[in-house]
Amino acid sequence: MEFRDLKTQYRKIKKDVDQAITNVMSRAAFISGDEVRELEKKLAEYVGVKHCITCANGTDALTMPLMMWGYTEKTDAIFIPDFTFFATGEVIPFIGATPVFVDVEIDTYNMDPNKLEEAIESVIKKGKLTPRAIIYVDLFGQPGDFDEIKKIADKYQLKIIEDGAQGFGGSYKGQRACSLGDISTTSFFPAKPLGCYGDGGAIFTDDDNYNDILRSIAVHGKGTFKYDNVRIGWNSRLDTIQAAVLLEKLKIFKEYELTNVNLVAQKYTESLSKYVVCPVVKKGFYSSWAQYTIRLKSKNERDELQKYLKTKNIPTNVYYPKPMHTQEAFLGIDEYQDCTISKLLSETVLSLPIHPYMQDDEIKEVADAIKDFLTS
Ligand SMILES: *Cc1c(COP(=O)(O)O)cnc(C)c1O
Repeated sequence: MEFRDLKTQYRKIKKDVDQAITNVMSRAAFISGDEVRELEKKLAEYVGVKHCITCANGTDALTMPLMMWGYTEKTDAIFIPDFTFFATGEVIPFIGATPVFVDVEIDTYNMDPNKLEEAIESVIKKGKLTPRAIIYVDLFGQPGDFDEIKKIADKYQLKIIEDGAQGFGGSYKGQRACSLGDISTTSFFPAKPLGCYGDGGAIFTDDDNYNDILRSIAVHGKGTFKYDNVRIGWNSRLDTIQAAVLLEKLKIFKEYELTNVNLVAQKYTESLSKYVVCPVVKKGFYSSWAQYTIRLKSKNERDELQKYLKTKNIPTNVYYPKPMHTQEAFLGIDEYQDCTISKLLSETVLSLPIHPYMQDDEIKEVADAIKDFLTS
């Protein structure tokens, strides 16, 4: 059994993908080929924003807006969830700012808006840092409650980055993920909901000015042309070959992958909800199911279950085994709350195999093994 089955997917689209790659090869337009522009147009359309700027990966996609806004001082506070992939936090000290870790919700695992406001108030009260921005992560595929987040952002005049690396394809009150922040970002790392065959990423925005600046940053701070350099940028582009792959993958993502993966999640929940805490998708929300993550009673039960599933050749992962604020790399950054939920989740969650090509007998195999373990 595969944790995320990219081989079956490739077999389905092999003819078209191989042809698309060959087309790029024969034109030798490896950087900034036509496919890149076409993909940006299609992605912006799908998400429902004016601009899509593709780039080298999801980490760069988070970094460039922070560079654009100039949040490069230690006194610039950026609020992020304590329970997420490391990159969300890493980009902040990387450009010189300070991350403030906020606790998450017990049911959706997403950043808790109430805790966010508490964290902002606490930073203001201490008076050392200036609140600047929120990076809100659509964890495991489900967007956050962006109406709530926007209220808070407006109240304290903060920018919002939606980190949609896991959220592409999800939606909130009819609006697609990756359209919910002032800036939204995603990753095309192969195992993400929409993945390419290497690294890739994208930034989304409705703002014309942001679009211009981000495109400049991504190509060495270019001005009117490549050898006119008006700001310090760097080099972050999506390869034409990856764009060609993504154009093919986007078709099936829209046609059936997103629907299928939601069916798999539904079947998991139907067979498991009596035995473990299943992921909750709230009313008005739609998940892209980057992960299907259950919660067990204790760390011991989680660890033993994972071992047991391994003996049955069922692959699982712990996303994430450490709360962000406890990572050694953030040593010395003392801006965090008492992240009780984040700590509890790191000890009790387990992500199960999930992908659009999962068969009913595989779902049953996983569910039965979990039931066997918990009832024996
Ligand atoms: C994967 C991921 C990223 C980073 O994306 P890369 O393309 O691997 O750089 C950032 N944030 C979250 C939440 C992710 O899951």
